[in-house]
Amino acid sequence: MTPKVRFAPSPTGKLHVGNIRTALINWLFARAEGGVFVLRIDDTDTERSTAENEQGIRDDLTWLGLNWDETFRQSDRFARYEAAAAQLREAGRLYPCYETADELDRRRKIALSRGRPPVYDRAALALSASDRKALEAEGRRPHWRFRLSGGAVTWTDLVRGPQSIDTSSVSDPILIREDGSFLYTMPSVVDDVDADITHVVRGEDHVTNSGAQIEIFEALGGRAPQMAHMPLLIGADGQGLSKRLGSLSVQQLRAEGVEPLAIACLLGKLGTSDPIEARSGLMELAREFSFLKIGRAPARFDEAELANLNASIVHSMSFEVAAPRLARLAYGDQARADFWEAIRGNLSVFSDVAPWLAVVYGAGLVGPELSDEDRVFAAQAADLFPAGEVGLSTWREWTEAVKTATGRKGKGLFMPLRRILTDAESGPEMDRMLVLIGAEKARFRLEQAALRQG
Ligand code: GLU
Repeated sequence: MTPKVRFAPSPTGKLHVGNIRTALINWLFARAEGGVFVLRIDDTDTERSTAENEQGIRDDLTWLGLNWDETFRQSDRFARYEAAAAQLREAGRLYPCYETADELDRRRKIALSRGRPPVYDRAALALSASDRKALEAEGRRPHWRFRLSGGAVTWTDLVRGPQSIDTSSVSDPILIREDGSFLYTMPSVVDDVDADITHVVRGEDHVTNSGAQIEIFEALGGRAPQMAHMPLLIGADGQGLSKRLGSLSVQQLRAEGVEPLAIACLLGKLGTSDPIEARSGLMELAREFSFLKIGRAPARFDEAELANLNASIVHSMSFEVAAPRLARLAYGDQARADFWEAIRGNLSVFSDVAPWLAVVYGAGLVGPELSDEDRVFAAQAADLFPAGEVGLSTWREWTEAVKTATGRKGKGLFMPLRRILTDAESGPEMDRMLVLIGAEKARFRLEQAALRQG
């Protein structure tokens, strides 16, 4: 059986860390098994769904490399949901209720105060046709609930193992609101049936829904797909996701310079028995994917770990991969492989390369502020700068000569030279930097430094 999975975000906001993980796990499983990945847009809530959010979701998934094989919108399928609702009504599984939200709230509080679970009491099932007519004559519109069997619903979850939901301890779920609009519960089942979804992979917060949804699958004459419910993400401190992390969007991570692959390496491995390490690409993650590796404990999302993964992905990025991105930065079209290989190990995020492009390929630097002493020192160092081509040994030979002539050593010797030549206090090895910068610019920077007003 070829697996077919779906990622089903609601376009009521941006994709954030939690739902990217759901998207990624679905995608990895589909690719690992040669299956099909469907992007379903859950936009039955027409008030809160926007075209902009939907486009944002598509852009984010594309940026992450999570391509889909099929896609559709729930808002294009209302006729199908009406037909399914009619089928459930006919089977006596969908019944109209007239309680207002306030009434339901009051009953919930009473039940709780008496130590009973706040489960809907099914009072509406006792209404006669004339009761209903009378209520509707008052102007009340019904909402519709699915009548649960009251028995146990069981399944073997691919992550959580054997599961059992006692439907007598759950309220009959509302499937259709007073205004006739559908809540998520039933359309999702109808879509999963019609699209032949084989596996529903989603967050643990949907486990209780699964009890009701499995009964809806069966009431519609279908069979429930396999289920996999992922443990939720928590913060590095073991608490729930912080406000920042809970709402951390793909767009924000992207703006912070995080590589899509770093996000995938972290979220694909978090809470699994595999180590969290950089991988060459999404397909490598897919080949390593297995539901058996996913633990049941909440997965800790640590931003420091994301930063480390990001740095190691940048550090091992080949020049072929870097070149088109360098070309979009100032002087980047001049960058060569020796430049990239000298610099990449110093970058935390790719865009950190920008100042180094200017140092190597740009004409002038702002230049550091120097003490009078350092200006004199710069003049001496400029005089001692060797003639001819700069090679990898030039830096050592030159600084030896400067050391002998000036008596300076250690930091006092190297730091002003590094600052003058690169405008930075730390960075790649100076022997390689000097080769990249070249004799002409190096000499010019030293001479400028010697002349600069303090
Ligand atoms: N739109 C639902 C959500 O984002 C989909 C849940 C599911 O995968 O069934 O929670």
